[in-house]
Amino acid sequence: MSLWDLASQTIDAASESLRALSLDIHSHPEENYEEEHAHQALTTWLADSGFDVTRSAYGMDTAFAATRGSGGPTIAVLCEYDALPGIGHACGHNLIAISGAAAGLGVAEALERGGVEGTIRVLGSPAEEGGGGKIRLIDEGAFEEVGAAMMIHPGTGDLLYPLVLAIDTCMVEFRGKNAHAAGAPWEGRNALDALVLAYQAIALMRQQSHPTVRIHGKIHHGGDKPNIIPDYAQAEFYVRAPQEGRLNEMVKRVEECFAGAAQATGCEWSITWSGQRYSNMANNGPLADRFGRRWLDLGVHAIDLDGGKGGSFGSTDMGNVSHVVPSIHPMYNIPHKSGNHTPEFTEAAASEAGHQLTMTATKAMAHAALDWLTDPDLRDRAQADFDASHGN
Ligand SMILES: [Zn+2]
Ligand SMILES: [Zn+2]
Repeated sequence: MSLWDLASQTIDAASESLRALSLDIHSHPEENYEEEHAHQALTTWLADSGFDVTRSAYGMDTAFAATRGSGGPTIAVLCEYDALPGIGHACGHNLIAISGAAAGLGVAEALERGGVEGTIRVLGSPAEEGGGGKIRLIDEGAFEEVGAAMMIHPGTGDLLYPLVLAIDTCMVEFRGKNAHAAGAPWEGRNALDALVLAYQAIALMRQQSHPTVRIHGKIHHGGDKPNIIPDYAQAEFYVRAPQEGRLNEMVKRVEECFAGAAQATGCEWSITWSGQRYSNMANNGPLADRFGRRWLDLGVHAIDLDGGKGGSFGSTDMGNVSHVVPSIHPMYNIPHKSGNHTPEFTEAAASEAGHQLTMTATKAMAHAALDWLTDPDLRDRAQADFDASHGN
């Protein structure tokens, strides 16, 4: 039996226990860096599947590394398993969790039973939804021995080259002066007015922003009582763009909106950027193409295979990984009434049909990983593509 068939057969044989693992994680939604249940369930499953497991790896309680194989090149597949506040697994990370574990097992069994050298590492990456777990994995050296990285993500279409935007986030504060809102309003300086003006300035600026830019905000504090002129207002904004350069430009223009609004209202302003930017995704061409061909063999035609137009996705810390090693982040469709980050998608992430499509995309990932491990020419082309997009 070929290595690829060995991987598929292994994944099929594990499908039932993976389904149980997925539903277990789905029914215990945990947010950024609190994924204790998922960490325990996944590392137990991987240890039972013969992996050499390091729990609480890379200085994070809920990160892990699970390795099988020996010698040869090393490839990483990533698991995510964090959920969203209030709506649970509305991004389907329970499916990403099992896809990483299953692809890892499929590749490991194929390598060992086929007598082929090579190492597969399943990396457990906490806190994708805003916590930047992969940034910490990178900083802690998780990719130093790794030659390529892969993960898949459920969504609303089958895509090899999702447009993933770089993002920075900020907290902005305006400070004015309290006064009686009816008795002596002229003595006050209205911090809420400053914030509303800034919000409107950003809304107007959208008209003269590139269509790929996304800016969105939420007011956290807008005063305490209508009869007190608010002396304090606070909001949070996300700024996204497809390249670092354009993101820098938009960050500057957003700051100018805050500064202008503060000046117009006689308030002071201050801003705190997260210091934890998610990068755009540098989708690796040869790896994405290989994934697409393997997926096609399994009956799924990605809409952007052979140059078709892809679609966009928000932002992910896998973008940061893609600037460290050749990486892919294909998106796959699961039957849905509404897209990611909605309660309807939470339901879709627990569906049997969603599970089956996850298994198919997982096989494509395992097959493409085996291609990379056994084909030096593919490794060279993936590295050349990475070097070309990073100016080496
Ligand atoms: Zn998400
Ligand atoms: Zn997600």
